[in-house]
Amino acid sequence: MNILLVGAGFSGAVIGRELAEAGHSVKVVDSRPHVAGNCFTERDSETNVMSHIYGPHIFHTDDKEVWEYVNKYSPFKPYVNRVKTTTQSRVYSLPINLHTINQFFGKAMRPDEAREFIESKADVSIDDPKTFEEQALRFVGGELYEAFFKGYTQKQWGCHPSELPASILKRLPVRFNYNDNYFFHRYQGMPEHGYTKIVESILDHKNIKVSLNTSFTKSEVPEFDHVFYSGALDGYFDYELGRLGYRTLDFERFTCTGDYQGCAVMNYGEESVPYTRISEHKHFSPWEEHKESVCYREYSRACGENDIPYYPIRLVEEKELLVKYVELAEMVDGVTFVGRLGTYRYLDMDVTIREALDTAREFLVCTQKGKQMPSFFVSPLG
Ligand SMILES: Cc1cc2nc3c(=O)[nH]c(=O)nc-3n(C[C@H](O)[C@H](O)[C@H](O)COP(=O)(O)OP(=O)(O)OC[C@H]3O[C@@H](n4cnc5c(N)ncnc54)[C@H](O)[C@@H]3O)c2cc1C
Repeated sequence: MNILLVGAGFSGAVIGRELAEAGHSVKVVDSRPHVAGNCFTERDSETNVMSHIYGPHIFHTDDKEVWEYVNKYSPFKPYVNRVKTTTQSRVYSLPINLHTINQFFGKAMRPDEAREFIESKADVSIDDPKTFEEQALRFVGGELYEAFFKGYTQKQWGCHPSELPASILKRLPVRFNYNDNYFFHRYQGMPEHGYTKIVESILDHKNIKVSLNTSFTKSEVPEFDHVFYSGALDGYFDYELGRLGYRTLDFERFTCTGDYQGCAVMNYGEESVPYTRISEHKHFSPWEEHKESVCYREYSRACGENDIPYYPIRLVEEKELLVKYVELAEMVDGVTFVGRLGTYRYLDMDVTIREALDTAREFLVCTQKGKQMPSFFVSPLG
């Protein structure tokens, strides 16, 4: 079969590889001048530091097959994500843990004492938290909320935490031990040669042809036996019902000699600092040595027509529009919508790869049985 993959990110590359290995002829197009989508990394021309151009990416997963899959294409080095935050003129460790609590309140509490202490701070008059703000006040109290959640959330989402649903914040977003590993997953690491190298290796197959700087148009669909589309769902329909809301990011690059902040990611919790965080990319490759350093200040704002969509908003209004686009997509034959943009969801890389592997396998089953592959293998509404 002749298959078209729109997008050379992890979604397009992984589906393309699975189908190429099954003997299909695969074409992958991407409108950008490079593969790897938003996971694109390249060496900074001035400092030679491996840089994550669309924002910091740390690989973490519990999925053994996915972990072995990425390692097969390029080696990983151990890496543990430890984030710091600057707020109220001090630096603390994130996620909020026993060290953060003890430093913030100037105490030396053991876990049970800290748990009791935080419970005493919680606003127990809130029975059924409906908003992000109520959730935070209910479980951690006003001081931690003001210092660690309020300003950051306001900057990240562009609205007050009282306008966001409680579901965005975990019921108890603090740890009562000194574990400052951001993730709980079994496998965590950083690709030694960057993410672009992994995607290039995945796409390196005799049955795959890659065309960069190539935008897909719907008129191409009949030329292929099937199309997997990892572009924006609303973009496929030329935004005819309106635009699904996203947050976009602006990155302000700067360089310095030596070590700028001593860690890879420093958040800024206060609203008075306009950026959400600064990432210093040489700390993502701690096995390398660099005298010079490249950093990025990250600003979040509403996504305009010509901006890169990063985080889907998925509040009530967006979900209503999403339902309508899903209905339209379900009427399209010969196209399956995949990936973070095609299904309008935030997806970590490991989930993206898992879904791509499963989608490709489902397609192979469908073709064997003579069945039509559905428009969505994973519903955007789930
Ligand atoms: C700021 C940020 C930080 C992140 N950090 C992490 C992290 O630390 N760990 C983690 O696991 N995940 C992280 N992610 C998630 C990760 O970026 C995604 O899982 C991954 O990019 C999804 O891959 P994809 O192929 O679905 O989409 P993309 O990577 O977006 O690829 C889609 C591709 O399709 C192309 N395209 C779109 N429309 C068209 C068209 N009409 N014609 C041709 N080409 C088109 C685009 O140019 C793009 O290259 C982060 C995401 C963001 C936004």
